[in-house]
Amino acid sequence: MEAAVKPVTSDAPAELESFSPIDGARLGSVQAADPAEVQSAVDDVAEVQPFWAQLPLADRARYMRRAGQAIIDQLDDLATLLTREQGKPRNESYSMELVPTIDALRWLAEAGPGILSDERVAMPVFMKQKRSRHTLEPLGVVGVIAPWNYPWSIPFGEVAFALMAGNGVVLKPSELTPLIGQRIQDTFERAGLPEGLVRTVHGDGAVGQALVESSVEKIFFTGSVEVGKRVGMACASRMKGSVLELGGKDAMIVCADANLPNAISGCLWGGFANAGQTCAGIERVYVEREVADRFVEGVVAGAKALRVGDPRDWDTEVGPMVSTEQLEIVRSLVDDAVAAGATLRCGGQRDLPGLPGVGAYAPAVLTGVTPEMRIMREEIFGPVVPITVVDSLGEAVELANDSEFGLGASVWTTNRAKSERLARRLDAGMVWANDHMYSHGAVSCAWGGVKDSGLGRSHAKFGLLEGTNVKLMSWEPSRTRNFWWHPYDESLGRALHSSAQLLYGRDSDKPAALRRGAGPLLRLARKSLRGAFRR
Ligand code: NDP
Repeated sequence: MEAAVKPVTSDAPAELESFSPIDGARLGSVQAADPAEVQSAVDDVAEVQPFWAQLPLADRARYMRRAGQAIIDQLDDLATLLTREQGKPRNESYSMELVPTIDALRWLAEAGPGILSDERVAMPVFMKQKRSRHTLEPLGVVGVIAPWNYPWSIPFGEVAFALMAGNGVVLKPSELTPLIGQRIQDTFERAGLPEGLVRTVHGDGAVGQALVESSVEKIFFTGSVEVGKRVGMACASRMKGSVLELGGKDAMIVCADANLPNAISGCLWGGFANAGQTCAGIERVYVEREVADRFVEGVVAGAKALRVGDPRDWDTEVGPMVSTEQLEIVRSLVDDAVAAGATLRCGGQRDLPGLPGVGAYAPAVLTGVTPEMRIMREEIFGPVVPITVVDSLGEAVELANDSEFGLGASVWTTNRAKSERLARRLDAGMVWANDHMYSHGAVSCAWGGVKDSGLGRSHAKFGLLEGTNVKLMSWEPSRTRNFWWHPYDESLGRALHSSAQLLYGRDSDKPAALRRGAGPLLRLARKSLRGAFRR
């Protein structure tokens, strides 16, 4: 069935302008792609990609290192643009976006060649004369479709992984963050990668849809569940793969034996960094009753103390929301929870004096929430932490798993064995103990979710493999004939029966199997040594 996606329009504006959520200032513009022209961008990349694919892995690794240096050379400039275009605090532009991608490039350069090299395959005992290996071929040209919340680190990582695997890339950044999206292509070009190997197509969802429908071999999509499902279906109907990194509703479980000050600080960061606009941000907290009062008190005090303001200031901890639409989603979810009986302990919508942009949502803490409230079921994607008190860790796990999402989860305890027991019971792609979501910045760790949170994995060796076709290459020295080839007779079946017992069976059955099978096995050996087919 063809997926029902937004119709592709061809009346797209020629220019896509970018405005800052801080003060509404126009930051610049990029050339917007007409959806009808996306295929030609893919075709252009397809001309360059075969040359890149032929480069030895060590050479591709050298380019990754150079790209890392290219980021370092424009670090402050990129950080400033990120903060102005997306609104995250200046420090987070370094810590959550730029520095992790420099480290990612180093990891790709160091670990990539080993992971992508041919791998010898061990053959079954009755095929020992054959030699086989797995070789990982690039897919060709792949598409990367990116969200606005981490407009640098998410697409940059996807593009770098695809390139290291030998692919060319067409990137579609979010229409809210086109300027920083464009800098990804520019950075690889600065690093000396062949011009045209990475192309950027700017525009709205129709451009993304055109990329999905183009001849790209695979789509790496990060975004909402709703759009992600449509993209996945559209890919499947064209027999192309997709990696879907979608939304989350991450739970934090605070055990009575947690290091409480640390859990409070971790909750503030995991819930409010990037103004809560993080797929793996903390969206639900389950705290054991014994420590609940102290925990809630600490989180409320901490949330009130976080500095909300101009993200360009070094000491701002929460900046504006990215758009009025996003602000409205957060506001309506909190209002709905309060109307249903929850208590808003702090936070709420706030104008930023002198900054006539989108405005902020001051870090909010909700208590008295119940599982059926919308705020406990839908993705908030804003700086709101709803806290539920539980009477046991079993109850906490049950509530945490009662969600359509399954991206990340965290367990806060000083008992490592307990954390591992709980981690195994949680439905999530990633479980962190005494921390939350940090591992997106460590690309040696796999990233991805279960349930509606997505399909496939980014980062680590799994992310590299997603950009390849696994080809089996097999060599047969051709000195003998396979014993399973024609002609068939009774001795073939009898010999195979005995072989199964001799090779894999119980020791006590082996002498009898050898006696029974000796004749058929000898006939089989003679057949193998005979060259041509003969009755
Ligand atoms: P969207 O799903 O709205 O958009 C994501 C990207 O898809 C954008 O570039 C968008 O373009 C494009 N797009 C929109 N419609 C289509 C279509 N029909 N076909 C192809 N592409 C399309 O997500 P947001 O940008 O709002 O990002 C927020 C979401 O992303 C949240 O749900 C969040 O949880 C999730 N996310 C998941 C992550 C993970 O690792 N699991 C990480 C980060 C975010 P346009 O910009 O024009 O709308």
